[in-house]
Amino acid sequence: MTRLVYNFGAGIAEGGRDDKALLGGKGANLGEMMRIGIPVPPFFTISTEACRYYLRENHFPDGLEAQVTQAVHNLEMATGRKFGSAEDPLLVSVRSGAAVSMPGMMETILNLGLNDRTVEALARAANNRRFAFDSYRRFIQMYAEVVMGLPAEPFETLIEEAKSSRGIHNDTDLTTEHLEELVARFRDLVHEQAHEPFPDDPEIQLWGAIEAVFSSWNVERAIAYRRVHGIPDYLGTAVSVVAMVYGNLGDDSGTGVAFTRNPSTGERKFFGEFLLNAQGEDVVAGTRTPVSIEKMAVRLPTAYRQLLDVQQRLERHFRDMQDLEFTVERGRLYLLQTRTGKRTAMAAVRIAVDMVEEELIEEAEAILRVDPRQLDQLLHPRIDPNASADLIARGLPASPGAASGRIVLDSAEAVERAAHGEAVVLVRRETSPDDFPGMVAARAVVTARGGMTSHAAVVARGMGKTCVVGAQDLRIDNGSAVVRAGDRTFKAGDWITVDGSGGAVYAGRVPTVDPKPTEEFNRLMEWADRVRALGVRANADTPPDAVKARELGAEGIGLCRTEHMFFEDGRIQAMRELILARSQSERARALARLLPMQRDDFIGILRAMDGLPVTIRLLDPPLHEFLPPEDEIDDFATSAGVSPDEVRVLIEKHREANPMLGHRGVRLSITYPEIARMQTRAIFEAAAVLRREGLDPRPEVMVPLVAERRELARLRSIVIEVAEAVLAESDTRMPYLVGTMIELPRAALIAGEIAEEADFFSFGTNDLTQMTYGLSRDDAAAFLPLYIEAGIFPDDPFQVLDREGVGQLVQMATWEGRQRKPHLKVGICGEHGGDPSSVEFFHETGLDYVSCSPFRVPVARLAAAHANLNTIISRGRAIAARSMRAESDASERLRQIRRTEAIAPRTGDAALERAAEREHGKPVL
Ligand code: ADP
Ligand code: MG
Ligand code: MG
Repeated sequence: MTRLVYNFGAGIAEGGRDDKALLGGKGANLGEMMRIGIPVPPFFTISTEACRYYLRENHFPDGLEAQVTQAVHNLEMATGRKFGSAEDPLLVSVRSGAAVSMPGMMETILNLGLNDRTVEALARAANNRRFAFDSYRRFIQMYAEVVMGLPAEPFETLIEEAKSSRGIHNDTDLTTEHLEELVARFRDLVHEQAHEPFPDDPEIQLWGAIEAVFSSWNVERAIAYRRVHGIPDYLGTAVSVVAMVYGNLGDDSGTGVAFTRNPSTGERKFFGEFLLNAQGEDVVAGTRTPVSIEKMAVRLPTAYRQLLDVQQRLERHFRDMQDLEFTVERGRLYLLQTRTGKRTAMAAVRIAVDMVEEELIEEAEAILRVDPRQLDQLLHPRIDPNASADLIARGLPASPGAASGRIVLDSAEAVERAAHGEAVVLVRRETSPDDFPGMVAARAVVTARGGMTSHAAVVARGMGKTCVVGAQDLRIDNGSAVVRAGDRTFKAGDWITVDGSGGAVYAGRVPTVDPKPTEEFNRLMEWADRVRALGVRANADTPPDAVKARELGAEGIGLCRTEHMFFEDGRIQAMRELILARSQSERARALARLLPMQRDDFIGILRAMDGLPVTIRLLDPPLHEFLPPEDEIDDFATSAGVSPDEVRVLIEKHREANPMLGHRGVRLSITYPEIARMQTRAIFEAAAVLRREGLDPRPEVMVPLVAERRELARLRSIVIEVAEAVLAESDTRMPYLVGTMIELPRAALIAGEIAEEADFFSFGTNDLTQMTYGLSRDDAAAFLPLYIEAGIFPDDPFQVLDREGVGQLVQMATWEGRQRKPHLKVGICGEHGGDPSSVEFFHETGLDYVSCSPFRVPVARLAAAHANLNTIISRGRAIAARSMRAESDASERLRQIRRTEAIAPRTGDAALERAAEREHGKPVL
């Protein structure tokens, strides 16, 4: 018979950390803790296999019932309590848990097994009647909501009534009698709303809960979460049934959540929150604001010391920062969960680098531990320290960054407004899983309640969204759509600015500044640079952008667009005169005015990139983009000395039906070779100036939109002729390249031919994607979101390179080009250069470099390192990977030793560590 249930307790642990796919993260890690002798209440786990069967067949698999019955019996043996007993009842929690953690998806049911009889026994056993009825009313409420699907509000209303009718403010002030009465009302409410009584039989309760966990795999918000995080739908969830331990037995009990290091900053300091005399949900839900973990040292000193020891062992064992849940029952500590802690990018970087120093992990592993996508967060702006900001409220700095937006109080509205391009900040009392889409849509999230481990905080950190929680001065009035702070009132739609790093909310839009990389960040990047094979350049059009790019580690400029240079004041006039020139001499005059301006631009950029290659693209856009709009025609005509009508005629002459496919790119240089000559002259005069200063300029001239070899041949000879002339005039020499963009499918198809005329290729993947799909990026908004939602396109092809189509062109052109010219330099310069998945593809294709916008340069550097490490690991060669593998082999062997010793838990780690040391010469745990 298939094994569907795994048992843990009384010296048995039928699974551990390697069994996440089967037992879910929660079950597997609880098992692992039990194996290494950390106190965990007895439990059993129903496998994801059972869930998958249930979801497929709509009924439980054969044998599940018998196995669960046996497992419940095991729990009874381990705890000495009986399920449904009127003497000393066993109560359990029923917890969902997939292989990948999905926060807030499926809610845990606590205190299952209570009914009117067992509650009396619990009261007697605990010698605390209030505690028993408090647990009971929580259970009914949770069960009714989660399993029976009843709405939450009526229960909350009953609690509010119970309090207000007696002038009570806190739940903790409700007396035993109040709670007993509340329980009776809850039961009536259930009967009335569900048209059936609340189930009293613990067996029925248990099966109801198991079924609810299975079904919850397919609730809408779980599906939405999986989609956002790329979690496959077929995994299914496990169910862990855990004997209850009680954090609400009095002032020698409590519950808390902790991180082995600070999840916000990464600081190596035990970090957590704690509530005395409370149970599970109280901390996480943000309904009571917990105190910092240090307070526990005063209130529960013995358990605190034990917790400090446990957290250290867990971190060394899992070799990563852990996020743990614990409960203290009458002074005794129990761990209820451990998992790899979610962290901000800043913390991820710091922890990875620190752990290398602490010799917990190798450098290669440190690199792989930081998700390149997350780095974006670090490059988030901060509030300008010199700005005068009008503080509205302070809260906890839950997730860093700074963002401004209009106040929105409702999640659905946030989604809708954001879809219309509005910047919104979601402001809520607290968030629940239902708010997830609104949080995705908002620029920042603010809650009035909750701690650093509340739903809002955890989810926002995971997404890298700026977030402040527990801003207690805010009073949110959904009815009249206002937020009050002291005597001030802000309406929905008003602008506010959120500082997630400082934990503050400001009125209006406060200016922000760019971040400064930390020392740890720089070290990680150095390591990444050492292991990556792919070069990283930046797209930069101005000297300040070039400086910024270099600071962020760019190894050159892969795309310098020259057209932006013509839009500036004073230049556009000359450009317009150039285009509208009626004679050779007029054109020459305009060009003579443009030349020195272009030269100055190039001096600035080549200087900033001294010693590094700078790819300068010749003029690309259709000329009409430079022409005066209707309301500027008169002014222009006057200053150019022509009549407005004459100007209109010329503008008409340049009008195109489809400019993207019109008179642009190399086609301009063919029809107006003097523009290309002027630009080339400006580039090389600039280079010559720097050369005389003793600098090392490395210009690369790039011709856009080439479709045919002869186009490039013509431009190449123009560029070389002018460049040689300028260099001869100024009596200097320098190496330079002339190459082309590959951005038309035809160019990719005849890349071998084109390579004959090119020193380099640079794939313009934005245009190449547009041209390959026949899809204009500017017009895609109308249908692209629908395509992605419906799964017709897996991703936005303008963000994530389409490997199948566009990628095939890239591969083919690279191969053909290098066939003809083995040392052809090949790079890319589209948005895709900053997207980790696309970077991986370019690495695999064997490109020389990617080029992306300056602030994405670190993302590309890290992504390139990941790509190379993953290649190395999968090929199993190179030194970096060898040391990494040696380490994981060693820990694998240790895990096997543990597996055999799991039968007799509480083996000290010291012996294992010594064994490892003998074998490898250094501690590996
Ligand atoms: P989530 O995935 O939402 O964190 P959990 O299954 O971890 O859900 O449980 C929710 C809360 O209930 C947590 O604080 C957890 O520590 C607590 N809890 C779960 N099982 C038990 C138990 N058997 N005894 C006491 N508290 C429990
Ligand atoms: Mg939990
Ligand atoms: Mg282009």
